[in-house]
Amino acid sequence: MPRLEHKTVVITGASSGIGESIATTFAREGAHVVVNYNNSKAKAEQIVRQINGGGGQAVAIRANVAEPKDVSFLIDEALSELGQVDIWVNNAGADILTGKGAELSEQEKLQSLIDIDLKGTIHCCWGIVPVMEQAGHGVIINMTWDLAIHGFQGRNPQMFAAAKAGVIGFSQSLAKTVAPDIRVNLVAPGWIETVFAKERMETTYYQARISEIPLKRFGQAQDVANAALYLASDEASYITGQIFNINGGLV
Ligand code: NAP
Repeated sequence: MPRLEHKTVVITGASSGIGESIATTFAREGAHVVVNYNNSKAKAEQIVRQINGGGGQAVAIRANVAEPKDVSFLIDEALSELGQVDIWVNNAGADILTGKGAELSEQEKLQSLIDIDLKGTIHCCWGIVPVMEQAGHGVIINMTWDLAIHGFQGRNPQMFAAAKAGVIGFSQSLAKTVAPDIRVNLVAPGWIETVFAKERMETTYYQARISEIPLKRFGQAQDVANAALYLASDEASYITGQIFNINGGLV
């Protein structure tokens, strides 16, 4: 039986990578999903077509999670589309490593991580919690990083860890605030083979990372989606305030 049958879900930043995988996985398990995107409209619409073409239910909604008014719009649109939001996944994250993101100044990178990853997560949670409280139930999953607490050398990791450790502190406090009706957990991917890793597959950097990972491979977006699926499902009904590391045993 599908594990998310009749569930309604919003996934922020679902137009690529891990978010896309969570959206397609949740839809395959019977959920009606909102594929949120900011810039990648065509990609989001393609994911929606793929889900709907396969017999699932999905709709794309544009919103910049760094903007509180966009977050309110996303919640309103999601409610009018889905009727209720049972599960909310805060996956949207600033890309500071590839494409235009890699060309930003350090101050701009830091600002976008704080605005999108940290404040975006907080604003989405603060927006959706009253809706879930009124319904008497809800599940929130927030995206962090397995090395946010343990640390990793370099300027980009320092900034990424600062934002993602903030997400951990916020989420664990929220979990204590909104229990017992709402569960809040964190998924902490390690080295996942998304764009940044794919661009480096032939390099010594990539091999060095693999040598440190006990399971000897980069993770796939699907590995992270599988963990999110478990936390979203009723099978995890006694789990809240936890960090689920998906990292091949690295930390
Ligand atoms: P990705 O491929 O770069 O995708 C990022 C997603 O976030 C895109 O769908 C993008 O949408 C969306 N996004 C960016 N800014 C947004 C905004 N202001 N409002 C709404 N959506 C926005 O990232 P990923 O590698 O799959 O990572 C997904 C999450 O996992 C992120 O939170 C990331 O920090 C975390 N994570 C990833 C790894 C890894 O190894 N990949 C490791 C640890 C943690 P548009 O393109 O439509 O703007």
